[in-house]
Amino acid sequence: MSLLPFLYASFMLASLGAACPSHNGAEMQFNYTLATDSNEKFRSMQRNIPLAMGKIAINNVRVFDGHRLLPTTTVVIENDKIESIGRCSNANTHIDGNGGVLLPGLIDAHAHPENVTDLQDLSRYGVTTALLMACFQPQLCQSLQNHTGLVDIVAGSLPAAAPGSMHGNIIIMADGNGDRLVTNASVAASWVDDAVSWGPDFVKLIAESPGLDQQTLNVLTKRSHEQGKRVACHASALEAYNQAVTAGADNIQHAPLDTPISASLAQHIASSGQVATPTLTILRAISDASPESRDYTAAEETVRRLKAAGVPIIAGTDANLVQGLIALVPFGISLHEELRLLVHAGLSPAEALRAATSVAAEHWGLSDRGVIAPGKRADLVLLSGNPLEDITATRTIQRVWLAGVEFSGDIGTF
Ligand SMILES: [Zn+2]
Repeated sequence: MSLLPFLYASFMLASLGAACPSHNGAEMQFNYTLATDSNEKFRSMQRNIPLAMGKIAINNVRVFDGHRLLPTTTVVIENDKIESIGRCSNANTHIDGNGGVLLPGLIDAHAHPENVTDLQDLSRYGVTTALLMACFQPQLCQSLQNHTGLVDIVAGSLPAAAPGSMHGNIIIMADGNGDRLVTNASVAASWVDDAVSWGPDFVKLIAESPGLDQQTLNVLTKRSHEQGKRVACHASALEAYNQAVTAGADNIQHAPLDTPISASLAQHIASSGQVATPTLTILRAISDASPESRDYTAAEETVRRLKAAGVPIIAGTDANLVQGLIALVPFGISLHEELRLLVHAGLSPAEALRAATSVAAEHWGLSDRGVIAPGKRADLVLLSGNPLEDITATRTIQRVWLAGVEFSGDIGTF
């Protein structure tokens, strides 16, 4: 068993507040080089994937353009981009959409893929962009990026965590020492400078108790912004949620599993321009496993209060594969569960679809995707059903395109 699944599992256990299992650090050392090499080797096989040639017209489809459902029309792809909507075209290839619905490729804004199989599973379920929510070793994260015909990976930094905290202990187990922990506010700015030096797309912070104090979280956030990076902050209890909001984190991950946020906190989040990624899928899994100590209804109520206050809500799953542990969340298929849970918590189907497309792209600065419009990436999911009527119709996937390359493996089944 590699260390990385163990690490991700530990992140979930941290959410649970479970005791950290003791392990021999040397025994748990993860072979980053081996994992990186294995991901890199896949690139040579990808050269055999037929690239989109010329223009492809997808006819007879209703288009959910990331905002709303348009009448039946034609969408034309040219190479990796969407060329046009609603125009007759001299396409080389015509595909009959059979009156189905064409969605922008789905975005899972919180996931932990570590190998090509995970990327394939995200892709086969229509996830065309995933935010890698923690990166322990840059080469491994980069080995997941730029795979033709597979999900595009947007990578976060090493998580910022304190000595003596659950997440701090996880980093110590990964590294064999505490050199990369954030000891106090005086080192926070230089920690950020180090963490962004390899070029992650955003910075990941951990709010927890015990954990980083408010002043340290504030400095980490401020320095990340000075470095031009958005900040995602883990917060799975009310106290941590308050800390993340106060620090000015752009995107607050998870939702409290103890007490819902208040209406006034939700208002504050809305007025300060912060957004939330509730990750209901993993919260549901955690609370199902320990209903006596975790209250899923607190997370659902938090989503309702965020929505009522007008806070943008983003779809994310915390997908990770850890056999035999408490909160297994499979890649790809779980995003469809997240959409269902968001609707159950009070979002309309259109709002849930926006959470996984246009709203996610807008608030992560991914201006080239999340909508079906001329010039955008040809990340597309063709459905036979209509998820605006019933959100579970996102499970009727017929075909998937990733930057214009049709997914060549088996489409995911449910
Ligand atoms: Zn996570």
